[in-house]
Amino acid sequence: MYTYKKTFRFIALSLILISILGCTNKNYNNNFKSKKNSPQRKKQEKINPENLPKDPIITATPDYTYSKMKEQINQLNKRYKQIKTSSIGNSVANRNLYLLRLGNGKKKIAVVGGFHGRESITSLLVLKLIEDYSKNKNINNYNLKKILNQTSLYFLPMINPDGVEIAVNGIKNLEDKNFYIKANEGSSNFKRWKANARGVDLNKQFNADWEEVKAEDQPHFAHYKGSTAESEPESKALANLSRKERFDAIIAFHNSGNVIYWYYNQNTDTYKRDYLLAKKISSVNHYKLITPDESNKKAAGYKDWFIKKFNKPGFTIEIGNKKSEEQLPAFNLNKYFKENRTILLELAQNI
Ligand SMILES: [Zn+2]
Repeated sequence: MYTYKKTFRFIALSLILISILGCTNKNYNNNFKSKKNSPQRKKQEKINPENLPKDPIITATPDYTYSKMKEQINQLNKRYKQIKTSSIGNSVANRNLYLLRLGNGKKKIAVVGGFHGRESITSLLVLKLIEDYSKNKNINNYNLKKILNQTSLYFLPMINPDGVEIAVNGIKNLEDKNFYIKANEGSSNFKRWKANARGVDLNKQFNADWEEVKAEDQPHFAHYKGSTAESEPESKALANLSRKERFDAIIAFHNSGNVIYWYYNQNTDTYKRDYLLAKKISSVNHYKLITPDESNKKAAGYKDWFIKKFNKPGFTIEIGNKKSEEQLPAFNLNKYFKENRTILLELAQNI
């Protein structure tokens, strides 16, 4: 009985020992195999050109006009299938008023550039933002995927393509040169041109105290408000889009001054809401807030009309730190981009 137990114990221990050694050996073989194979496996991995870093499409482009923008929009559409591009109408000279959309959320924010001829750097900025939001998943602490699931972003890079053409290339390709020279106070240098092709200032065209706005009384390179509110196809198309989509907030980029306009006779509740949002934007780009006292109480700009009509927050953001009567240099694009890179995301998180 005793011997039988001892023998049994010996056999059991031996079996355990053999199985442990077996395992160790197997592991050793596995390690050896994987070490041996890994360099080869690396070599065999195919390089997918889709995974290589790509040059940015939107770069500081001098003499930026509609035709250059159109090429860039085509490239953006080829690379980023999530961008949905359409046109909300046509300018006086029949150029498309492009709208690029990103995101699928219920909240809607519009960002508009290129209101004034000599401000085409704002068009580059708007497109640089959509490229940035299309290629990245996170920017700083902002979770882009989450934001774009909650928010739809509407980018309108150039609402005044005809005015941009005049400010950049002059009137050599236009008929009725006398009209333009007269509107330009006799000068044949059109670099300061702000208006559209009919000499109307598109940011004095919206139905917010339009009748009372003091402005030039005939077509002019700047500050003529037109014969009626929304008399121009460009401002009408933007107003129509805003009435249809009922945005939760809008941003209009202009230059220059490094300031944020946010006030238009808000009531007590919306005043506080909009002031706090303006402060949040300012905490990102460090531009100065224009106070209610400094703001125009009667104006017919897009942001003024948007605030008055919809009771929602609207902001005019002036990029560039010095008053300029001409286009800001294109090489400043990256500076303006860095400053304003996340203001839309900050706004999206707070509305
Ligand atoms: Zn402007």
